[in-house]
Amino acid sequence: EQEGPVAGRDTRLRVVVRVRPLTCTETRRGDRQVVHSLGDSTVHVSAARHDATFGFSAVFDSGTSQEAVFEGSGMRQLVELAIDGFACTVFAFGQTGSGKTYTLMGPLVQSEAQPAAPCLLGLMQRSFACLLEQSRSRGAGLALSASYVEIYNEQVRDLLSPGPPCALPLRWSKSRGFYVENQLSVEFESLEAIADLLLEGSRRRRSSAHALNRHSSRSHALLTVHVHSRAPSACPSKQGTLCFVDLAGSERVKDTGSTGELSVEANNINRSLLALGHCISSLAKPRGKRTHIPYRDSKLTRLLARSLGGSGITLMVACISPSSRCLSETMSTLHYASRAR
Ligand code: ADP
Ligand code: MG
Repeated sequence: EQEGPVAGRDTRLRVVVRVRPLTCTETRRGDRQVVHSLGDSTVHVSAARHDATFGFSAVFDSGTSQEAVFEGSGMRQLVELAIDGFACTVFAFGQTGSGKTYTLMGPLVQSEAQPAAPCLLGLMQRSFACLLEQSRSRGAGLALSASYVEIYNEQVRDLLSPGPPCALPLRWSKSRGFYVENQLSVEFESLEAIADLLLEGSRRRRSSAHALNRHSSRSHALLTVHVHSRAPSACPSKQGTLCFVDLAGSERVKDTGSTGELSVEANNINRSLLALGHCISSLAKPRGKRTHIPYRDSKLTRLLARSLGGSGITLMVACISPSSRCLSETMSTLHYASRAR
């Protein structure tokens, strides 16, 4: 295993928490705000039967701008490591409606004709801009390409390939590790081009109606930017990746009123989130104390094996609602996140 540029367990895995504002509906029906940040790295949950404090690398309260989340989460460092040939990953974790997609991509855009205001763009677009800026400022430049897949019910589907979605096999080879066979990888050279890919792929994401949230995403979506840096003559070129993972909602099956097909779906989701939790908590241990890291337990963790086990940085953004009604999910998100810390 390659030794990372940043030694020590605290820097390889960074866990931050983002609290979204109360929505209009929550405010109208009089939900109380039970989550408060204390300083910039502690979050406090206080309600009738709960009074708990958790510490993380950073805590962003409901007033934090998209830009401040980008700067405060250390995203720039991940971008730079990807350019230097490392594999870096960003996860958004939390219950449906907690702000995962908003944090990664900003408010959902309906059409290319009405893009979101620049100040609302998420971690993804800000990172793309950073990569393109770096590419322009380097003489030799960077070759950038993107792939976008979703894992739905333990099947991997290409979100960039036109036509009806079909499941792609996940393979393993000695040189590449786990990879998706026949997955499209599309080169891009501008912010508009990658924004179009993101929009096109996001529209293909599977969502199904259930009691909790009609538009809830029941799949994990992984957008990976492959960064190929053409080094000056004689030096080898570098291949890094920056992967953004919009995880399926972490709510437990009972809350969603799911039965039958939907509950198979929910079990698969829980299985990969559980597997991810196990991998992350093994990784959070110091190198010498690490036991077996169970990548093989789910498609999600197989696909992320290189970046989780490699020498780049993994950033986990735990998203929570401040509402009293979301209390138990909020507690379980914070427990999951602090296990990884
Ligand atoms: P998730 O992807 O976790 O299901 P979303 O990102 O779709 O949740 O967020 C749910 C709703 O809350 C959306 O309408 C979104 O625009 C809004 N929202 C989430 N986070 C914020 C935030 N930090 N500021 C303003 N609105 C937000
Ligand atoms: Mg979402």
